[in-house]
Amino acid sequence: MIQKDAPKVKENKNIKNVIAVMSGKGGVGKSTVTTLLAKELRKKGYAVGVLDADITGPSIPRLMGVSEQKMTTDGKNMYPVVTEDGIEIVSINLMIDENEPVVWRGPVIAGAVMQFWNEVVWSDLDYLLIDMPPGTGDVPLTVFQSLPLNGIIIVTSPQELVGMIVSKAVNMAKKMDVDIIGIVENMSYVKCPDCDKKIYMFGKSHSQEVADRYQLPLLGQLPIDSELTQLSDQGYVENYHSDWFDEFSQKVKDI
Ligand code: ADP
Repeated sequence: MIQKDAPKVKENKNIKNVIAVMSGKGGVGKSTVTTLLAKELRKKGYAVGVLDADITGPSIPRLMGVSEQKMTTDGKNMYPVVTEDGIEIVSINLMIDENEPVVWRGPVIAGAVMQFWNEVVWSDLDYLLIDMPPGTGDVPLTVFQSLPLNGIIIVTSPQELVGMIVSKAVNMAKKMDVDIIGIVENMSYVKCPDCDKKIYMFGKSHSQEVADRYQLPLLGQLPIDSELTQLSDQGYVENYHSDWFDEFSQKVKDI
């Protein structure tokens, strides 16, 4: 069942590609993947923005190392915070105290995301990445119906792949004619530090199976890496380097 009353939005002709990153559940690494991708695209010379649409659980400012800053406004428009390497960031946490909970009902939350699209003055961007809230609620519905999305990336954990959570996200996108760029399995395995062997802690991976079932590209299987957790917590994700990430970002760019 899909509700049809889509809000009208402003045309943002200065944004070339809009990609939403979504997940079925929270905590699977959606914001981490969004941040890594934004940093990588920026390193390759693209103009990048990130719209943090996870209004009740915003983590992009911290991951991007700008949580101390605040967005500005001239009473009519809002202006993004810009990271040292030039990525434009918009998040509710750049407007309020980050310890303050956002206790709003669904339509108000979706309205805030629309305001971020309509009232923020973005520069000319090659890529705007939208970090979606987990699940298939008001915000994904509004973003899918109203924003000019080029496609979505679905981030999952190994456990989600065996259940129906990924299927729900895939089916929602398909029903609403939104292109799925591909699936990323995060926290897929741990690499043994002594022998380099991959250890699949949650049993055999099902990501290829699920990707094949829906005829979607599997963009990557990302390991659990404590260095990534530490750098994310400190807001220095750009210092993270790994072969798997180069491969993954190249695939996203090629698609
Ligand atoms: P989500 O956006 O899906 O809620 P986050 O990206 O905020 O999830 O990640 C949740 C936590 O897991 C963060 O502390 C993050 O640093 C950590 N994390 C995410 N992916 C990995 C990974 N591949 N290896 C290690 N830690 C990770």
